[in-house]
Amino acid sequence: MARKVIVDQESCIACGMCYDLVPEVFSALEDGMAQVHDSQGASEEQIQEAIDACPVACIHWEE
Ligand code: SF4
Repeated sequence: MARKVIVDQESCIACGMCYDLVPEVFSALEDGMAQVHDSQGASEEQIQEAIDACPVACIHWEE
């Protein structure tokens, strides 16, 4: 089964990087904070790209 990805919204600075890169998985809440709307919306490689691009490292794979 595919892994689930989560955003730690306490640390998110609403930079927009993740939902610009992978809009199939991440989207913006009203204040620009990121949320995961579809963990299975893109490949793990694409999601990993967003994880690596997040400037505050607040996107994680759920254990
Ligand atoms: Fe938030 Fe990180 Fe996404 Fe930027 S890349 S919006 S800091 S989760």
